[in-house]
Amino acid sequence: MADVEFIKSHLSSHPDFPKKGIVFLDIFPILRNPLAFETLITHFVHHITSHTLANAPTKKIDVVVGLDARGFLLGPIIALRLGAAFVPVRKHGKLPGECISASYEKEYGTDSFDIQADAIKPGQTVIIVDDLIATGGSAKAAGELVTKCGGKTLEYLFIIELLFLKGGAQLDAPVYSIVQSD
Ligand code: 5GP
Repeated sequence: MADVEFIKSHLSSHPDFPKKGIVFLDIFPILRNPLAFETLITHFVHHITSHTLANAPTKKIDVVVGLDARGFLLGPIIALRLGAAFVPVRKHGKLPGECISASYEKEYGTDSFDIQADAIKPGQTVIIVDDLIATGGSAKAAGELVTKCGGKTLEYLFIIELLFLKGGAQLDAPVYSIVQSD
């Protein structure tokens, strides 16, 4: 648990960002400190190899999916450590080639995520990574894209989970978060 407290001590909170009434939790202080960043990645990889893989039918993670944008900072490193592929889920219109899309609700209106159609092969095992889960809308859309590709999501992983929003309830696989915030 000392590692969780160490990671937690490198989070900062910003009241009224990006607008009044929202308290934004910033993960970048973790990345500024190499030991904190290493502790974060090692914590995720330890959890995946000791828990997630134990429940995986093939005992293997084929693909780590990272969400635009802060999931791109975590996913590739975790993927390398696991010997897995990294696949980005990007905001609509940014990826070349044939893409599959899924929309999700934002605070105002809807937004849309894309994945490259050939990025995940049918039957591959997948974990989905992002910095924070709030309502779960973006993670749900990413999960839908994995399913549309024929992949099987084993788990959703986040540094922070805003428990009061119950975002995990709408997902098709368990959530793992290092820090929970009420
Ligand atoms: P959701 O789709 O679960 O409602 O929102 C999660 C998305 O919004 C994630 O991609 C996350 O990066 C971003 N997000 C929302 N609030 C925060 C916050 O307080 N801190 C950080 N770092 N990201 C946030």
